[in-house]
Amino acid sequence: MRQPLVAGNWKMNGSKASIATLLDGIKAGLASVEKAALVVCPPFVYLEQVAEALRGTRIALGAQNVSHEPSGAFTGEVSAAMLKDMGCAYVIVGHSERRSYYGDTDLLVAKKFAAVRAAGMKPILCVGETLEEREKNVTEAVVARQLAAVIELEGAAALQDGVIAYEPVWAIGTGRTATPQQAQDVHAFIRGRIAAIDEAVAEKVQILYGGSVKGANAEELFGQQDIDGGLIGGASLNADEFLAIGRAGR
Ligand code: PEP
Repeated sequence: MRQPLVAGNWKMNGSKASIATLLDGIKAGLASVEKAALVVCPPFVYLEQVAEALRGTRIALGAQNVSHEPSGAFTGEVSAAMLKDMGCAYVIVGHSERRSYYGDTDLLVAKKFAAVRAAGMKPILCVGETLEEREKNVTEAVVARQLAAVIELEGAAALQDGVIAYEPVWAIGTGRTATPQQAQDVHAFIRGRIAAIDEAVAEKVQILYGGSVKGANAEELFGQQDIDGGLIGGASLNADEFLAIGRAGR
């Protein structure tokens, strides 16, 4: 049985004050979230503040991006070892905003996955198609290609050290959510691809759904057989919404 996981991707939002308020709200309602593991992924500059505020709670710390390089002359970059040092347990890699605005290729994402894993943290590997790709009926081919890059570099067994997040690009920040059946179909496809190589890994790996998840739609999405929780953007900036999503599902 896979434990549900709900991860908040705060993106480039927040201030010291607003983050303190948000975390106070989440901590105040934490007892109501019984089954799901929770993760919050603040911007790099707030990692220390958030790590401090999370100390002694069961909420894990995550980061939104990482360099694939271990150290050295890479101005503006942050290594996996640094994130581990700050107390991160999870790192998002391959978010569609990184892929589309910052040129993160499948290979670079795979290298980031490898760097996070080597540092002893869990990569949250984002995959998903654009609207154009869905309309061309190439959703499965796109997701398979994104997944294959990691499998080729690290092997399928490496996936059990991470988490996969299926995030249809057309559903991210748009208010347009995939239907539970659309999401389940792609989740089952992903699990099937992995099972074709290693059934035990496929059974174990958590596959999250992301794309305009809210308290109001999380229950139905997370109730699907292959959906093990969510990667949450906008709604993770609201404590009550984030907690409601955490209470949803299996
Ligand atoms: C995301 O950024 O990963 C995401 C799913 O965003 P939102 O929930 O706002 O659609």
